[in-house]
Amino acid sequence: MKAEKNAIILAHYYQTGDIQDIADFVGDSLELSQKASSNSADIIVLSGVKFMAETAKILAPDKKVLLPDFNADCSLADSCKAVDFQRFIDENPGRTVISYVNTNAEIKALSDIICTSSNAVSIVESLPSDEKIIFAPDRNLGNYIMNKTGRDMVIWNGTCYVHEEFSLEALLELKRENKEAKTLAHPECEMPVRLVADFIGSTAAMLDFTKNDGSKSYIVATEAGIIHQMKKENPEKEFFPVPPVDSTCGCSECRFMKMITIEKIYRCLLDEKPEIFVEKDVLIKARKPIIRMLEISEKQGL
Ligand code: SF4
Repeated sequence: MKAEKNAIILAHYYQTGDIQDIADFVGDSLELSQKASSNSADIIVLSGVKFMAETAKILAPDKKVLLPDFNADCSLADSCKAVDFQRFIDENPGRTVISYVNTNAEIKALSDIICTSSNAVSIVESLPSDEKIIFAPDRNLGNYIMNKTGRDMVIWNGTCYVHEEFSLEALLELKRENKEAKTLAHPECEMPVRLVADFIGSTAAMLDFTKNDGSKSYIVATEAGIIHQMKKENPEKEFFPVPPVDSTCGCSECRFMKMITIEKIYRCLLDEKPEIFVEKDVLIKARKPIIRMLEISEKQGL
């Protein structure tokens, strides 16, 4: 059916392993947007959450972009509403607005540049050192970038519920039990978790780290779906997900990401719905800061 319809399935690293295995491409938000803007398919099935499908539509407006479950939102993107964000910008005039890709299209339309966790530090550093910045919506990622670059930033107070929930106590216990294991943390994690990490980076950077590093085991503080690729790339190594504070199971999974199933992907490709639409004026405005991000990333070889 994919071939008949000239469709492509793009899946995020936080999707379940069975979906990652049937996808045409698996990547983080930066890689998915790069792929969405450069492929010859007529239909893109975005196996991820809504803001990713919107980003694909903005970059490929002539293609049909399908999201297998319309309820697959993102708590971080939803923490930043356009009317509130416009007020925040008005209260902090004269600043360049950098928004994380985990935002709805309306927020992107209010931004100067978009970034992902893969390129956030490079994007900020590409600006003159005295340029004042607004960063939204993830406060942990914002604080991480501000500490790393020393730039003047005001930061929106949003968080991702998955990365906010990791238990420091459980992480320290895992470290005590696995003394040789290196700890990898996503910059969306809270500072105490980042402080005990051996490596901080995006999902793609973490995956690369496990491929190039000599250790045999890793404690992973991000959504547990990435461990599927880590195991595929490093079958001889061991990976331990960090459990959440309120743990009834041993893993930390995003309930929005996990709304997508193989069955829903099949149905949506068969019926060619639900389809993502972005209002034309929003799309035009949102496209500019995304293209700016892609251009900076390309220049920097990211
Ligand atoms: S893991 Fe967090 S940031 Fe990513 S989609 Fe889920 S809620 Fe949003």
